Amino acid sequence: MKIHNFSAGPCILPTQVFQEASEAMLNFDNLGLSIVEISHRSKNFVAVMDEAVALVKELLHVPNSHEVIFIQGGASLQFAMTAFNFLTETGKAQYLDTGVWAFKAFKEASGLGDAEIVASSKDKNYSYIPKGYNIDPHSDYFHCTSNNTIYGAQLKEFPLTEVPVICDMSSDIFSRPVDVAKFDLIYAGAQKNLGPAGATLVIVKKSALGKSGRYIPAMLDYNTHISKESMFNTPPVFSIYVSMLTLRWLKENGGVEAIHHKNEAKAALLYHEIDRNPLFEGTVVKEDRSSMNACFLLKDEAAHKDAFNALITEARINGLAGHRSVGGYRASMYNALGQESVQVLVDCMKKLENK
Ligand SMILES: *Cc1c(COP(=O)(O)O)cnc(C)c1O
Repeated sequence: MKIHNFSAGPCILPTQVFQEASEAMLNFDNLGLSIVEISHRSKNFVAVMDEAVALVKELLHVPNSHEVIFIQGGASLQFAMTAFNFLTETGKAQYLDTGVWAFKAFKEASGLGDAEIVASSKDKNYSYIPKGYNIDPHSDYFHCTSNNTIYGAQLKEFPLTEVPVICDMSSDIFSRPVDVAKFDLIYAGAQKNLGPAGATLVIVKKSALGKSGRYIPAMLDYNTHISKESMFNTPPVFSIYVSMLTLRWLKENGGVEAIHHKNEAKAALLYHEIDRNPLFEGTVVKEDRSSMNACFLLKDEAAHKDAFNALITEARINGLAGHRSVGGYRASMYNALGQESVQVLVDCMKKLENK
């Protein structure tokens, strides 16, 4: 019986992708060899890398000014790497603090130079997105996190600024259209909407690099990875391969614009039930609710928790527990999660009400 996987990450990927990936684990391209035992410089793997980069460019309409690379170290390494490449010795960086990940990014930059928080939603446990703040036009860059995976708040709009914008899009990249030209750098760990952990996607405006004036270790320098076409050292081949398969699946299914419609429909279905059902409440202000991660609570946890947990276990729902800093429940509805899974969850909520 099917398991409905609402895990926040690592998370669900299309079944078709898991099938193809498992075949390639044993026999890739009919070579009689596994994808993970061939040279990353073989023409077979270079073709995978080239296709992955081409699909990112096509699906996100990446302009020619921007390069697409894959790096290791997760989004967490990007917290430091962005600062190394963009923060000058005498300049300062500005951060929007919308959650744990955003704050970790800020901390890495403040260890290297002058970083400040322009606005924060920490006062209300990150349950909204701050608005109406000012970005200093003389700062080196502005950093934000497009989707707050843990608390379930999402930037619906990005601030207009002349300053270079760097964005952590780990948990909503490829879920909705994005105007790449407005960003100097976008990064995303693979394991939320793209593939298994290991690869981190970076989209960077070439002309914005080389300005920090710092010594940058080779592995932390974006220009290293651009000039070596993501093969400066051995890349995480399996993660990149599976990411490429997921991007192929996305293209076959109409691309980012089509998946965006599906994601909006899934989110609307669940939030409607959260608002309608008297036993539940959402944790995030309505206008900032994430369409990827919906956080909600039982109004009377003591009275209903056991019954609800029994219902979701019986329905084979996986990964619904909220993050420990929010409690309650978090339904992550990434691209590969079908609307039928959201319906199963909604049915559980209705059953609880009717008990
Ligand atoms: C998961 C997540 C991270 C951390 O990613 P790693 O690849 O584990 O370092 C950072 N930012 C956001 C928004 C995330 O969702």
